[in-house]
Parts: sequence; C-alpha cells; structure tokens
Amino acid sequence: MRKIGLIAFDITRRCTLNCLHCYNHSGENNDWKELSDEKLDRILRDLASVEPDSFCICGGEPLLRKERAFSFVEEGKQKYPSMDINMVTNGEIVTREVAERMVTSNLSSIQFSMDGASSKTHDWLRNKQGVFQKVIQAIKYVDEERERYNSDLLISIAFCPTKENIHEIDEAITLCEELHVELFRVQPLMLIGRAEENLNEKLLNRKEYSELSRKLHKRKIDHAISSRVMVDWIDPLDHIMVDGSKEISFIQVNASGDLLLSPYIPIAVGNLKNHSIHEYLERDYFEMWDHKLFQLMKDSIKLAEQMNLLQLRNELPSVGKGVIAFDALEDDCIAKMDAFYEKLIRE
Ligand code: SF4
Repeated sequence: MRKIGLIAFDITRRCTLNCLHCYNHSGENNDWKELSDEKLDRILRDLASVEPDSFCICGGEPLLRKERAFSFVEEGKQKYPSMDINMVTNGEIVTREVAERMVTSNLSSIQFSMDGASSKTHDWLRNKQGVFQKVIQAIKYVDEERERYNSDLLISIAFCPTKENIHEIDEAITLCEELHVELFRVQPLMLIGRAEENLNEKLLNRKEYSELSRKLHKRKIDHAISSRVMVDWIDPLDHIMVDGSKEISFIQVNASGDLLLSPYIPIAVGNLKNHSIHEYLERDYFEMWDHKLFQLMKDSIKLAEQMNLLQLRNELPSVGKGVIAFDALEDDCIAKMDAFYEKLIRE
C-alpha cells in the first residue's frame, strides 16, 4: 500500500465567519446536518490508522467541534507519535482555555488566518468587524501557553493576497515576527466558492504577482540570515498538476465523509460513512486520476486564479455545495464515470 503524506479532513462545514473568499461555502448554513459525533470519531480513527506523515483538521471552523478534535489529537498523538497533527482556525473563538488545550493535547501546529496588518483589511475579507483583534489575541494566548508548558507547538499564518491587502504584506510579516509566529504562508486567491461571486475584481494582476514573488524571495533570504519568521508560498494546485495516480499521496475528506481526489473538484470517489479508507486504498482509488473525467478536470484547472471548472457549472455543483458522487468500490463505477463524462462534453 502506498505511503500517505497528508490527510486533510473537514470535520465541519459550520463556521463562525462567512468570509468573502471561502472556497467551500462554509458558514452559510450552520443548521446543516453534519456527521454525528460517533461517525466523526470513527472516521478520524480510521483515517489515522493509515499513519500519514501529517493529518490536518480543517473546516469550516474545527473549534466548533473542539471536544471531538482535541480528543482525537490526544489519542492520535499517543498511538502514532510520529504523525504530525495540525489544525486550521480563524482564531475567533480561541480563549486561553482553548489555547491551553492546543498545547496540552500535543497538537503539532496551529494555523491562523491573517489577511492584513489592520482591522480594515482583515475584517473586510473576513466579512466581520472585530475579527482582526481576536486573531491577534488568539495568537498571544497560544504563544503564552506554549511558553508556560515549554511546548514546541508551531504557530503559522495563512495570508491570502488581494488588491485590498497586498500593500500590507511587509507589515503583516513584521507583526508576525513580533507575535513569535514561525511560519507565514501565502496562498493565492482562487476564484471558487464565494470568491467566485465576491472577488473577481480583487485578484492580483501579473505585475502585482511578480512584485509579490520578489518580496517573498527577499524575505526568504532574510530568514536564512536572521532566523526570522519563515515565509513560504503555497501552490494549492500542486496536487492536481503532478501525475495524480503515481505521485499523489494526499487524502481529502469533506464534512459529509466524501472521499475526494482534490478539495477543489466537487466529484467524490467514495464515502467513509459506511466504508473504511483501507477498502479504498486496497482498490487504489488514486488511479481514478487517470480517468478521462479527472483528466478533463485537470485540463480545466491551470492556474489558481483561473478555475475554469466554472465552464462546466451546469453539471457540476459549486465546491462545498455538494458533490457528484461515485464510489470506487462499486463494480459499475467506471461505467458511471464514463457516462457522466459524455454528458459533460456534450454540453
Ligand atoms: S474561509 Fe475559513 S474562516 Fe472563513 S468562512 Fe471559510 S472556513 Fe470559515
């Protein structure tokens, strides 16, 4: 069986925010019926038993299910000490007690979102007043708690550049240095989910991207010299651009238990509510990347800022609003995918 590098599991689609750029429409319908605690625990344990290098607890806002999340971290780190367990959060509901639990549960890293160096820019993208101050406070709590427990929990930041905040990136990196953040990750804005409706005009142009790239390069050199915060550029499409069936060792599961080849393609190849991930791995479901349906998806996604899946929208749901469901364990799965592909290209 292949070695799995990363598992990312959205343990909820509920969120305390309704950000303008949310790629999976989280926070829109918080009454949505999610996986029961029992099912969630079972899927978390099942996924961890694959022993990936790294396990990311994502959402939505995962802290809305914090009891389940922290129990999993405690158990997972005891059982598989070499597995990194990470969590992403918008920071809004991080109290001192929550920060302490992050440290004492042995979480490996916590990623906060910070999209500017001021309330004006951050709260604009996050679509709510007061969130910037809360995330700053949350980072301070975690830093203080890790100091108190002498913990090596890593704090990272995810920054999404737009025309509104790009002028503040240097200031935001400096602020992170002051807050003892170790890693500052920049991920391009993708025109999917709510960004597709809200942010068309806010994408950086080619010139702005190349200036950004120069700045990040300089920051990387600064880091090598002075050990300041490490700055990194994330290409969210890496897993799509490589030869999926041979190279990919990335498992993505959404908040309904759907098994996806990519978080950005709303086509499921299985579901973990009734089957174990091991059954899918034995079937080597990654080979589905070679199917013409996924090749078509791959050809439609070339750049983060040009998600041309939109052209196929009549038949595909928006990411986070549902999936076209196939199941690699069913004998007629490939025939069903063939038929769906024919329907798509006839459009
Ligand atoms: S981007 Fe993150 S914080 Fe914002 S609505 Fe989506 S899941 Fe919530």
